[in-house]
Amino acid sequence: MFAIAIDGPAGAGKSTIAKAVAKELSIIYVDTGALYRAVGYYALSKDKDTTNVEDITALLSEIKVELSYDENNVQSVLLNGENVSDKIRTPEMSMAASNVSAIPSVRKFLFDTQQNIAKTNSVIMDGRDIASVVLPNAEVKIFLTASPEDRARRRYTELIEKGMKVEYDDILEDVKKRDYNDSHREIAPLKPTDESIIVDTTGFELEDAIDTVMNVIINNLSIGG
Ligand code: C5P
Repeated sequence: MFAIAIDGPAGAGKSTIAKAVAKELSIIYVDTGALYRAVGYYALSKDKDTTNVEDITALLSEIKVELSYDENNVQSVLLNGENVSDKIRTPEMSMAASNVSAIPSVRKFLFDTQQNIAKTNSVIMDGRDIASVVLPNAEVKIFLTASPEDRARRRYTELIEKGMKVEYDDILEDVKKRDYNDSHREIAPLKPTDESIIVDTTGFELEDAIDTVMNVIINNLSIGG
C-alpha cells in the first residue's frame, strides 16, 4: 500500500490530475475538500455564519460526514446520509468551505475520516494539509500550483460548462481571497513541506500537467518495493 499527497491552491488542477493518476494506478482518489464543503453546506443550510467559531463548533455534533466509493472508485460525500456531492460544487460552497476550514474543531472533526481511508487503501489524496498533517508519511508529496489567473480561468470554464452564470472577475477575486484565507490561517496553512515536490502548471495543457505529475510519481514511488 502507498499514499500520494497532492496539496495546492484552489484551481491548480489537483482533482482532475489526481483522478487521472488514480485511474492509471488503480487506486482511490480522495477529494478532501468535499468534506469541508459538506460542513460548509450544512452550516449554510442552518443559516449560520460560516466564520463563527462557536456556532460552527456547536453544529459538529449534529453532523455525520462520510466518503463512499462506487465500483469505479468515484467518490460521493454523504452528509447525514444524504448524497450532497453535486450541491457542494458552487462558488458559495467554496467560500463556506474555506471559512469553516480555518476553524480548528472542524479540522479535528474531519481528520480521522481522511486518515482512515489511507489505512486500508492505496490513495492519492488532495487538499491543503495532506502532506503536512493528514498523511505525513506519504510516499510522494506534490505541491501543485499555477498562477491565480490560470486557475481562475480553469474554474470559470468548468462552472460555465456546468451551466452556471458566473463572471471571470468574480472567480478571480474568489480565487485570490481563498488563497489568502488558506495560506494565512493559523491552523494548517497552505504551504509546501520540505519534502514536497513543487509542480507549477501555469500555461500547461491538461495532458502535459498530468504527464508531469505522473512522471514525478513514478520517479518517486517504488511500487511493489
Ligand atoms: O479543494 P476544494 O476547493 O474543494 O476545497 C475547498 C476549501 O476547503 C479550500 O478552499 C480550503 O479552504 C479547504 N480545505 C482545507 N483542507 C483540505 C481541503 C480543503 O482546508 N485538506
